[in-house]
Amino acid sequence: MSKAKQKKQFYLLSLGCSKNSVDSESMADLLTRAGYAGVADPDDASVLIVNTCGFIESARQESIGALRELAALKGKNQLLIAAGCMAQRYGDEVVAWAPGVDGVIGTRRWMDIVPFVRQLRRRKHPQPLYHLPDEAATVGADERGALRAAVQGRSAYLKIADGCRRPCAFCAIPQIKGTHVSRPPQAIVAEAVRLQEAGVQELIIIAQDTTDYGHDLGLKNGLSQLLRQITQAAPEIPWVRLMYAYPGYVTDELIETMATTPQIVNYLDIPLQHGHRETLKRMRRPANVDWVYTTIARLRSAMPDVAIRTTFIVGYPGETDEEFEGLKQFVRELEFDRVGAFTYSYEASTPSATVAWQVEEEVKAARRDELMALQQQISLAKNQAQVGRVLPVLIEGYGDNVSIGRSYRDAPEIDGYVLIPGELPLGELVPVRIDGAMTYDLTGVPDLVPAQTIAPQYISAHL
Ligand code: SF4
Repeated sequence: MSKAKQKKQFYLLSLGCSKNSVDSESMADLLTRAGYAGVADPDDASVLIVNTCGFIESARQESIGALRELAALKGKNQLLIAAGCMAQRYGDEVVAWAPGVDGVIGTRRWMDIVPFVRQLRRRKHPQPLYHLPDEAATVGADERGALRAAVQGRSAYLKIADGCRRPCAFCAIPQIKGTHVSRPPQAIVAEAVRLQEAGVQELIIIAQDTTDYGHDLGLKNGLSQLLRQITQAAPEIPWVRLMYAYPGYVTDELIETMATTPQIVNYLDIPLQHGHRETLKRMRRPANVDWVYTTIARLRSAMPDVAIRTTFIVGYPGETDEEFEGLKQFVRELEFDRVGAFTYSYEASTPSATVAWQVEEEVKAARRDELMALQQQISLAKNQAQVGRVLPVLIEGYGDNVSIGRSYRDAPEIDGYVLIPGELPLGELVPVRIDGAMTYDLTGVPDLVPAQTIAPQYISAHL
């Protein structure tokens, strides 16, 4: 890599989930305020940052690969920083895996990126520096008032809390991020207003567990209250989408808030992880499967067009054939609109790793494929039921003579698309009459029918 052309330029590679993207954007924001300019080519930067993901082995490998690649190309005057979850979790091991890393800053302290860079610049010896304190990040972030959501097109993630206090036996997130810490509502609402001013059309509410919002602030029904505050303060954002609800915590109040607040789209992501009581017990997850049936029925009764997304882990330690069959039956009966299925990934420092009966990799993969094949039939039928509806579609890009967008039924990056012939205006919500259905995607044409003939719930709820 050639010598960096300018001293105050940074290159930031963000890996992992949407929560990490928000932290990356916030770090970029802080660096920009400190006079650094972001560049797309690492060759042009004096500071190279990889915001790593340390959730599962494959994500770790990707993060290590990215660090090694930059370390190999790094020039004498360039600094390489490992930030994010893998950095927080593994500390100095990161430097052993990717020699050449100058500094390691944990996910809980990303807001210290500017002083950390200065400290690295001032250091007299080439030893790496570590900034991995245990305290949670969110409070500090708000003190500095620097949070900015990750904006992609006209869609923005809004992180309302960080960390997690649930005991799921397969998950290392609480070890990495610490316990759940809610951001103060005023800071979140102020950020929503800024995003409205920036022309955002879709606000995606995220946290490790959004339904836990506010418990640490002493709030009752904190998420419902927050959603009402956000939608009142930012009435021009037409779509507010709620992700990552925890089973058992989708309350009647939350359902009512969703159903009666037109800006909140009729979409809910509830990662259930399994549908068999015994597997759920071993996962240390809520094992009250009846609650799921009742709650899905309540959601569908309050919002007949609600799209429900969930994720499952298959091949969890000890998962018997009978438990897997139970999961399939659960999926058949509940007919989720969207399902993501993942094979269990062994995580050394979690309770699941100590369970003696680990399911073989081939069995895990076969179960995942079987579950997804079942879901594909359900997904196709659900999509076919959309044919004839007029759905507002957020236009996000173009393909070969088609516009590509999403309806309220699709969250970015994980769900499907709506394909419409011709070039429609980017970043706009366009009414589209659905005329075709595939397993994951829909096709349609711009709807030329006068607005008043469109079913009122679509106009009020989604435009
Ligand atoms: S709720 Fe999610 S983030 Fe929290 S421990 Fe469970 S799986 Fe991990």
